[in-house]
Amino acid sequence: MVHRLAAVCLLIGRSTYMKSHWILGAAITAALALGLISCGGGDGGPAGPTTTPAADGTVLTIVSGETDSPVSGARVTVDGGTFTTNSAGQVTLPQRPANMAPIDILAAGYLDRLTVFRGQETRLSLWPRRSPTGLLESDTVYLVYTHVNWRDGVPPLLQVGAAGGDSLRQRYSRAPVQVFYSDGFEGADSWAIDNQAAAVAELNDAIGGGLTYVPPRFAEIPAANMGELHVALTIDPTHASCASGFVATGEPPPAGLAGGTLRVNYCSVRYAGILHVAMHELGHTFGLRHTADSNDVMSPGSESQAFTPKERLVMRLMLQRRPGNTFPDTDVCRWRPSWCLD
Ligand SMILES: [Zn+2]
Repeated sequence: MVHRLAAVCLLIGRSTYMKSHWILGAAITAALALGLISCGGGDGGPAGPTTTPAADGTVLTIVSGETDSPVSGARVTVDGGTFTTNSAGQVTLPQRPANMAPIDILAAGYLDRLTVFRGQETRLSLWPRRSPTGLLESDTVYLVYTHVNWRDGVPPLLQVGAAGGDSLRQRYSRAPVQVFYSDGFEGADSWAIDNQAAAVAELNDAIGGGLTYVPPRFAEIPAANMGELHVALTIDPTHASCASGFVATGEPPPAGLAGGTLRVNYCSVRYAGILHVAMHELGHTFGLRHTADSNDVMSPGSESQAFTPKERLVMRLMLQRRPGNTFPDTDVCRWRPSWCLD
């Protein structure tokens, strides 16, 4: 059930947004891959009343990605047939779909999900259009799918028309992210050093266990294995962004298999000591983009020192999707089948 991929590093892009004096999002390497994801499967369970159970029928269970509770009344289309989930969120297919067979799931209150059948994954989650956390569809667009590249000199946050144009940046591997103090941190004030550890702790708390950032340490940065990511923390006033008035930069992960080192750079030791700046840049390394809500840590110019409930929810939802997923909720295998041949 591991899928592979064709992946190539594409570009280095720069995404910055200037407001008062800071921030910015990212440089990028993009490589696409697909991978395992957390929707573990369980076959079995009662047959839905709107389906005709077959002895060897495959049961799909549709759940909310936010609450994990079953979604009833969802319309599931697979193999030319359309089925409606019962009160247990389940449909029983008359026959087992072929591997990689398209599955469309439409349900009120959730983004339309287009995915494919992967043998073991029979429990499929849906991404809420809005939630009690305050999450709106627009938050999902901005935080997850905003196009991160500058275009014609325009910062990404101002490219309203580009919203939703990019794919989910999450790496394939769920191995812990190693974080290293690197150039500029030797001899830095202890509060700047300690601040990085505090920001990592805040990020881990927000992620909720689906992925772990290892507390930063002083060590030689080893080469990353395929699928692994490291984060290098640096203080370098000569970084190109600093001359433009930014205080820090954070690189997002590639959307796939490629491993490597993402850099978080501070333009001075003072900025390295500001908690919300460190949290924001680490948020970029997780794959978060910018939002327009000033309460969010990921809002440029925000001084929030806690990821908001909707940011926390978005991170959990992102970990339920493969890298390369596109807005509204389309599996990369649906638009680039050649990457999913097995
Ligand atoms: Zn940013």
